[in-house]
Amino acid sequence: MTASDLLTGLDPEQRAAASAVAGPVCILAGAGTGKTRTITHRVAHQIASGVAHADQVLAVTFTDRAAGELRERIAALGVGRVRAATFHAAAWAQLRHFWREWRNEPLPEVLDQPLRLLIPLGQRAGLLGRDLAAEISWAKARTLDPAGYAESGRSAPVEPETVAELYEAYERQKREQGLIDYDDMLTLCTRLLTERRDIAAQVRDRYQFFTVDEVQDTNPAQWDLLSAWLGDRDDLCVVGDDDQSIYSFTGATPRYLTGFTERFPHAQVVRLERNYRSTPQVLTTAGRVLGAQGKTLRPTLGDGPDPTLLPADDADEELALLVRRIERLREEGVPPAEIAVAYRINSQSQTIEEALRRAGIAYTVRGDVGFFARREIRQAVAALAEEQGRVGSVREDPPPPVEARPAGGPRPDRFVERVLGRRMGWHPKRAPEGETALERWRNLSALAALATRRTAEEPTLSVDRLVAELEQRVREGDGAPEPAEVEAVTLLTLHKAKGLEFEAVHLVAVEEGLIPISHARDDPDQVEEERRLLYVGCTRARRYLSLSWAQQREGPKGKPSRRRPSRFLDPLLDTRTRSAPDAREPRPRTARSDEGRRPHERGPADGDDEALVGALREWRRTRAHEDGVPAYVVCTDATLREVAARRPRTS
Ligand code: ATP
Ligand code: MG
Repeated sequence: MTASDLLTGLDPEQRAAASAVAGPVCILAGAGTGKTRTITHRVAHQIASGVAHADQVLAVTFTDRAAGELRERIAALGVGRVRAATFHAAAWAQLRHFWREWRNEPLPEVLDQPLRLLIPLGQRAGLLGRDLAAEISWAKARTLDPAGYAESGRSAPVEPETVAELYEAYERQKREQGLIDYDDMLTLCTRLLTERRDIAAQVRDRYQFFTVDEVQDTNPAQWDLLSAWLGDRDDLCVVGDDDQSIYSFTGATPRYLTGFTERFPHAQVVRLERNYRSTPQVLTTAGRVLGAQGKTLRPTLGDGPDPTLLPADDADEELALLVRRIERLREEGVPPAEIAVAYRINSQSQTIEEALRRAGIAYTVRGDVGFFARREIRQAVAALAEEQGRVGSVREDPPPPVEARPAGGPRPDRFVERVLGRRMGWHPKRAPEGETALERWRNLSALAALATRRTAEEPTLSVDRLVAELEQRVREGDGAPEPAEVEAVTLLTLHKAKGLEFEAVHLVAVEEGLIPISHARDDPDQVEEERRLLYVGCTRARRYLSLSWAQQREGPKGKPSRRRPSRFLDPLLDTRTRSAPDAREPRPRTARSDEGRRPHERGPADGDDEALVGALREWRRTRAHEDGVPAYVVCTDATLREVAARRPRTS
């Protein structure tokens, strides 16, 4: 593709951002407006136009998987492979490279189970290891040492001074054992670049163009590192959406996004308003969840079905509704990979998994570790490399004629299948019992599926080259998109859903206590973060959006308790909110610190029309149910117009 080809397929504002190849650029825009797409094209354009060499670009994203996707998307635009990584992966790579030169001692080992140290430390103060871990991690994200933490005014489960002491002890133990944790990677890398001008010069010579996606969730430790990479240069493009800031509980802050022009006064700021992802109905619903402070999003897609709210009597019924919902979507022709089920906390996945397994619905749970970082995948790739030398012996199995490749040699996909069978005990049709075994089998199946896809798409692909590609991915340690997901429904937490999109999204247990999560309930800032989290969930849907909750659910001790739908659903459940702005109409943007009350806190809207409300109830009763279970259909303005047209005349 030529440089100008890379700008077609972008709208004028996106194009302005993508063609601003040098200097500071900030894209501040709402969900689904094409931010990620724009930076993909921008990087490709930087390279194709000759401004940057592929090696000089560093694109930073929030997960290994997102990095893998970004790298592949840029490669797909035909400009070669650029480095796309998380802050951690990039920092660790630089530390590994320069450690000896810097410290003249062996590279420290990474403590990947900090709880090993933190649980016993926490016990001293009656603090759970994981709570202590969260506090220390927060402190490091904010670049606070133990003394700084003690003074931070942070409200922790125990006295801040006590946490500070344990933090100090943890640091000491790590030092004594020659260990560093993940958070240390960022601060150490920043220190390396600050202390050693010569090394900083080398790193800055290598990376000259920087891009950061989802910058609203950057923390001070990451920003310091980015600043160290930049030095006094400013070839930086940041993109993000403060309406989607969902990680401030970990120490992240949207201020680097919203305050970008304070740091770079001459920055080009681009705002995108056209949404290319979701139907107007989905956007209206998401907009109501967020309330009046949200950014304007103008839909470009045509109408779709109204989003559905599914109240269930109890958790079992909710799962039954979910299964039916998925079956219906399948009947409508939505492929499994285009269906996502999102929830607030990891542990919620277990009952959902159980229900889907019983219903025979294939699913995959999005985990934290990138695909190629998983143990069985590393083992399998190592086995492939060993067997590769013995390719002849593999070829000895009588190869049917279809196996012949235009370039000669055995088919890479058959080779992978055989090695997985022989060395890993994997069989494509024999899924084992048990959680861990099944997970391992799914991962290996995914690897086999990847080999099949690569073999099909590239007729000249050889075993050697496929194995080399896989080894490369393992070395990079950062995951590419998981191949097997093409056939499975995705289960994931709302946090993990960030940046993704699906044709259909179902949000489960949209209840008080889960969203907002119980421990956030008393802090207005945290409640707002929870609201944005639900907004992120809703804006993942292209066409089908449904939300469910149970009126009763068993607590941790098995005792059933009454549940209330999330307060964030009030604007959807309340017919009076028909005065809420429609996503189609441009709305004036108001400041985040808006004094106005949220829609759910509002009293009855002026001019409440009881006849309309009655008609709407009736409409719901007759029209809105899913297989006999009463459901609400979210009232978009189109629905309301329809109801209004049918309502009984009152005179
Ligand atoms: P999020 O805030 O959720 O991260 P985003 O702003 O990064 O969203 P993208 O994921 O880049 O949005 O784009 C959303 C969808 O819209 C994608 O499917 C993308 O391909 C599509 N899209 C973006 N821009 C255009 C365009 N100019 N024309 C057609 N489709 C587009
Ligand atoms: Mg994005």
